[in-house]
Amino acid sequence: MRPITEIRLVRPATLADAALLLAEHDARVVAGGTDLLPNMRRGIADPAVLIDLSAVNAFGTIEQAHGQWRLGAGATLAAIARHAALAADRPALAEAALAVAGPAHRNAATLGGNLCQDTRCIYYNQSEWWRAANGWCLKLKGDTCHVAPQGKRCHAAYEGDVAAALLAYGAEVEIVGDGPSWRRPLAELYREDGAAHLTLAPRELVAAVHLPAGKPGQRSAFRKMRTRGTMDFPLASVAVVLRLEGGTLAELAVGISGTHSAPIALAGAHTLLGRPVDDALLAALGKLVAKQVSPMRSTVTAANHRRLVAVTAAQRLVRELAAA
Ligand SMILES: Cc1cc2nc3c(=O)[nH]c(=O)nc-3n(C[C@H](O)[C@H](O)[C@H](O)COP(=O)(O)OP(=O)(O)OC[C@H]3O[C@@H](n4cnc5c(N)ncnc54)[C@H](O)[C@@H]3O)c2cc1C
Ligand code: SF4
Repeated sequence: MRPITEIRLVRPATLADAALLLAEHDARVVAGGTDLLPNMRRGIADPAVLIDLSAVNAFGTIEQAHGQWRLGAGATLAAIARHAALAADRPALAEAALAVAGPAHRNAATLGGNLCQDTRCIYYNQSEWWRAANGWCLKLKGDTCHVAPQGKRCHAAYEGDVAAALLAYGAEVEIVGDGPSWRRPLAELYREDGAAHLTLAPRELVAAVHLPAGKPGQRSAFRKMRTRGTMDFPLASVAVVLRLEGGTLAELAVGISGTHSAPIALAGAHTLLGRPVDDALLAALGKLVAKQVSPMRSTVTAANHRRLVAVTAAQRLVRELAAA
């Protein structure tokens, strides 16, 4: 790890000013810094200017109005996890926030940083000398991907936990750039490319996340499958939101992250509606997940193991929520 030596730090008071500064300089925004600063020390990121978002007014506000939650992107994961009303209403989100790293980390790490964190790969999240000794790689300075040497794109995985829960809840992100802010579905923040997994334009920032408040009868939960129980990135993180009516599934949404360069909102969940939650339904759910989750070997764990773990987590969550 190399030291961070000379760097210019600016602290704008508004997100609009932060967006303007992004346009003017070789700059990156920094929130909690728990992802960006280690990456700078690895020589993966090398901005000349850091735009510190910590002085932005009301950036961490969590509020509910008109059946919607609005979570400022500056809200820390600790604040999200301990917000009693939010945790009671949208428990999978609180569980996901609590599953990130350790307590000191969650006190600094923000929602926006969690959603916009870089993708990860065993050949990339290494020291500079390690990567140099391996001839670098396609994502930075090299021309070959060590995970898929015949391929032309990076398969590094997005390993943010919180996105799985937010996708299951149908969240939207509020973007700030030139002019007034606007909203778009969270899934559209990402693309399946480990070297450019965010669709934000160069001058855009995530201002907030909006998600609908819970409806009567809705149940939800999150599960992170990881090698090391105390603190680890996910093999797969899965969140499920469902509602039963007369013993059959009336609503089902599944969010998955940790397996691909973009988190996944499971497609085709509606095909399982109207059926009781029994072994046949869980088998059909398992097939849907296995079809859409096909990780590459970007971690030390076998890719097929990560796929099976995602299948099992989704099946267990649906079975447990239905029985609750
Ligand atoms: C030891 C360790 C363990 C970790 N464990 C986990 C884990 O278990 N689960 C997990 O999900 N993550 C984990 N992380 C990754 C990361 O620390 C967290 O995801 C954290 O939430 C990032 O938030 P931050 O505010 O610190 O982001 P920062 O480091 O400040 O920023 C991360 C990236 O997002 C950009 N960014 C920040 N805010 C915004 C915004 N509002 N709009 C646009 N871009 C923005 C920054 O420019 C930067 O590129 C871990 C990291 C480390 C070092
Ligand atoms: S998936 Fe390939 S290109 Fe991407 S970081 Fe890993 S080795 Fe590099």
